[in-house]
Amino acid sequence: MSKSDIILVPDLALRAKAKKVTIFNPALRTLANNMLKAMRANRGMGLAAPQVGQPQRLIVLEYEPEDKADAAIPLTILVNPTVTDASRETDWLDEGCLSIPGLELPVERPIQINALAQNLDGKRVKIRAKGLMARIIQHEIDHLDGILVPDRAAPASTRLTDLRVVFMGTPAFAVPYLSALASSRARIVGVITGTDKPTGRDQKTTQPPVKKIAELLNLPVWQFESLKDPLALEQFKALRPDVVIVVAYGKIIPSNWLAIPRLGFLNVHYSLLPALRGPSPHQNAILAGLKQTGFTIFQLDKGIDTGPILVQKRLTIKPTDTSESLLAAMIQPSIIALLAALPDFAAGLSQPRPQSGNSSQTRLLTKADGEIDWQKPVESIERQIRAMQPWPGCYTQVGDERLLVHSAHLEADKLVIDTVQPAGRPPMAFGDYLRSNQANRLTFFQRVGKVKLDI
Ligand code: ZN
Repeated sequence: MSKSDIILVPDLALRAKAKKVTIFNPALRTLANNMLKAMRANRGMGLAAPQVGQPQRLIVLEYEPEDKADAAIPLTILVNPTVTDASRETDWLDEGCLSIPGLELPVERPIQINALAQNLDGKRVKIRAKGLMARIIQHEIDHLDGILVPDRAAPASTRLTDLRVVFMGTPAFAVPYLSALASSRARIVGVITGTDKPTGRDQKTTQPPVKKIAELLNLPVWQFESLKDPLALEQFKALRPDVVIVVAYGKIIPSNWLAIPRLGFLNVHYSLLPALRGPSPHQNAILAGLKQTGFTIFQLDKGIDTGPILVQKRLTIKPTDTSESLLAAMIQPSIIALLAALPDFAAGLSQPRPQSGNSSQTRLLTKADGEIDWQKPVESIERQIRAMQPWPGCYTQVGDERLLVHSAHLEADKLVIDTVQPAGRPPMAFGDYLRSNQANRLTFFQRVGKVKLDI
């Protein structure tokens, strides 16, 4: 990610109401041209003047799809645009925004609109748009009124004024939560993230994804080696947070931190608490063959995932879900649930309720959890292969070769292995792997007896 010429959240310039254009001069044309350049350079489909720091009612749009089957949007420049009429029929689509890196949220909008605007010479133009073009025009007009995607995706969040939020999170999947909070009306007073770590074969120092986005958004970032350090506590106190939002920070929060924010710490956990507490909830939901799981937003207390619940939402586990796809499916709904629940919680209008029901515990997964035990029923092996994806991945020892098993499914009572990867080789179809000369491979799986081999 690089700094762009486009204004990013949480810059308040994006919240101002833009002024009507009354003078149609060469400067207006230059502004439109600069906006087009910025939009194209950032591969956007639309841009509004406030996004380049000009509080004027001017928008540009253009879209050339790579797939020619999609409808193109011709270059359109609209001055003082207003929607005069919108269809009652609506649809939902994930909307991103050039001013909000790392976030897409589903937004419902009318599928067809009539709009009135002027061109760069001040001449009146009438626009009738549907589908993507109608959506982009509405998104850009929203910018002219200081409205951003989270306001649409979670309308309650517009009441989040002046809430002082500290965000704690580290990996890539925590990024959209930070982006969403930064583009809400809450005020991010600090971001606390994991330390830079050597990763990969060359042990190159890598910054946590949350740090990168926080710096891009000009948010103050802290990377504490230990939260037990008294200096860390002092710096945290100085931020005077009302609430702390924690998404996969990576370390336990000490109890002397918990009492500092007025509203405590809210954590997003990927199970229906009190079920599947601990560090591998969604992986264990798949492993156990559950049909449903969900996410819980709860208030941290001294225990591990034992605090009172603010929001809980149920979600169906698809028979093909991997841990990766299941987690991905929970990100957007939990962001929306968080944004929707925060205002009432902050105003003291909703009280988290204590956890009740049967609890269960998960532990940190290790590499060893990926080893396939062929004595187990095929159903459980198939679930293990999905549960360990993307990490640690499943494997089995074939002779003196370690074989990674990336994906498989069940047919009747046999395991059909789809993709494998022998050590030091690229991933390949299981059939190709079996056919590649070495007889011991086939012999191994014949002995296993549970795998479909006539493929
Ligand atoms: Zn936008």
